[in-house]
Amino acid sequence: MELAFLGGATTVTGSQFLLDTGSARVLVDCGMFQGSPNEVERNRVSFAYDPREIDALLLTHAHLDHCGLIPHLVASGFRGPIFATAATNELTGLVLLDAAKLQTEFARRAARRSHRGSSGDPEAALRTRGPEVLVEIDEPLYSEADVLAALGMVRQVAYGDEFPVANGVTGRMHDAGHILGSAIVEVRAGERTIVFSGDIGRQGSPIVRDPSVLANADYVLMESTYGGREHEPEARSVDVLAETINATNEAGGVLLIPSFAIGRTQDMIWELDRLLAAKRVPPLPLYLDSPMASKATAIYRRHAESFDDETRAMLAQNDDPLDYPHAKITNDPNDSRAIKDAARPYMIVASNGMLTGGRVLAHLRDLIDDPSATLLFVGYQGEGTLGAHLQQGVKQVVIDGAQRQVRCRIRSVDGFSAHADEPQLLSWISGFTRGKRPGDAGFPREVFIVHGDPDAEHALEPKVRALGLATKIPAWRERVTLS
Ligand SMILES: [Zn+2]
Repeated sequence: MELAFLGGATTVTGSQFLLDTGSARVLVDCGMFQGSPNEVERNRVSFAYDPREIDALLLTHAHLDHCGLIPHLVASGFRGPIFATAATNELTGLVLLDAAKLQTEFARRAARRSHRGSSGDPEAALRTRGPEVLVEIDEPLYSEADVLAALGMVRQVAYGDEFPVANGVTGRMHDAGHILGSAIVEVRAGERTIVFSGDIGRQGSPIVRDPSVLANADYVLMESTYGGREHEPEARSVDVLAETINATNEAGGVLLIPSFAIGRTQDMIWELDRLLAAKRVPPLPLYLDSPMASKATAIYRRHAESFDDETRAMLAQNDDPLDYPHAKITNDPNDSRAIKDAARPYMIVASNGMLTGGRVLAHLRDLIDDPSATLLFVGYQGEGTLGAHLQQGVKQVVIDGAQRQVRCRIRSVDGFSAHADEPQLLSWISGFTRGKRPGDAGFPREVFIVHGDPDAEHALEPKVRALGLATKIPAWRERVTLS
């Protein structure tokens, strides 16, 4: 049996793993590489296999770095079933249709630029226009029709149920606690059990249930996004959020929160709703400027089966934690553009969370040199992204080709993360060792540390070893034999 690490190996994005049992070939995730130019380039590299020979795909969750290349896989000949939870199925439709549309728009703009004689050199483009340009310079990877074909191949599975995947292979989804529908995937192939962690959520995060702790596996692939790092306590992040809102109110300013449309935005609405209910902040108007987030919230509402007890209890009392009472939903682009003329103070939550594109960039353009504005980061900023540069405190940035001074306030919190931090990751992996010794049945023979930047992977590795587990940090496209 062989396992190939085709993405999410020494990187956070592009998750893709291929299990080849000799009689079945099963993919877990088929994600897009995002972030720095070097990573984005990998989306253009041919698949490491013939997609027609893949029997099935198991999808952990609907984030683009886990599902983003599925339509490309289908357009390249994949015909097997795609197994996903009901909520992941719906959210994936939203994410992939949006991705197809963006690629088409970018390609059109790129064609216009090359018509005007621009160089098309990725490095030059990066220097002058920022990292978001990198997805714009090529042909689209897939069309809306490819997305619809892919969605037609999804088979919904329920958490906890074992289901047949391919010849001699079964699967089971467990709560991952990361976003709605997210799953830890347990695969049984012959005598062996391989657990793919997907993205593991934070204990106690809003809306979704906490990640399941599993007890037995022969091999584990474990995410390491926050290896070597510990989140500040959520209560501290809530304090900073409240302080920032109150300061924005007093200064008559604007608070801009870049946020991923799926997961983080719903979590932030939940937090803002709680602060308001506790009367810790004034009821500032909130512009929810992300049509994608609005659609995602509608999907969240349809999947109460994935909610945790706290969220269910609130809903039962008619307190809707997915709704901020003073939200103005600006799905129309004209309404979005009009926000800058609104009476201050106010807040904007807009996508995307790493400032690599989306409406948030237009707001940033308006606010970057405004000392009464605050940019509050509430999520992970990929290496090399505009968000990461601003977080590091650079005083000048390039936005849409123009040099801009950074004069707005920049604040960051990490207690709202949708990912487990290192202590939580170690707590999760130690579930496999509890009451067992190396060599016992169900004690993992090896833990593969994936889905992390190299620093994070290397920080986490010795701590996993200290639990008595053998570890490996696989390289991109490395193949290992499982005994
Ligand atoms: Zn994710």
